[in-house]
Amino acid sequence: MPKVISSEKSERRYRKRSVRGVPLFVGEGAISQMANHADLGLAEGKEVLGLILGEICRDEEGEYSVASGTATAGLDATGVSVRFDQDSLEDLFASIDESGGDAVIGWYHSHPGFGCYLSDVDVKTHSGIFGEGMGFAVVLDPSDGTLMVFTVENGETKVAQMVVSED
Ligand SMILES: [Zn+2]
Repeated sequence: MPKVISSEKSERRYRKRSVRGVPLFVGEGAISQMANHADLGLAEGKEVLGLILGEICRDEEGEYSVASGTATAGLDATGVSVRFDQDSLEDLFASIDESGGDAVIGWYHSHPGFGCYLSDVDVKTHSGIFGEGMGFAVVLDPSDGTLMVFTVENGETKVAQMVVSED
């Protein structure tokens, strides 16, 4: 398994965040990767799905996440559902492990044409990957170019603040 954040409690690198109170910083490159993937899915009438890679850092306010890239694999997708196909998921985890350094700090998927929120299934998926209260869920709607970030705490979805940073 790759380094999913809920499963490790290792030392976090100290690095003061550039904007106070923000729990997630996402590089422009990672945003573009997610948006481009969602656009490709829209053209095919399908949802897309991927993992968000990066680092957990810490400063005086506590821990926060810095997303630097994304990773995806073969998908089993329709216009209203998406999941990794099982064979490709193993390859994906292997490639993340081999890349070293990066942890899985979140996941993204698209809702082509039906808005940004977490469905009940999405909440279960999120909790299955990250456990309670850990990790970020990015939802994109490529039909109007919207993107929102969520966390799940005690089964409840919360909107999270995100700052896009230069890579
Ligand atoms: Zn969804």
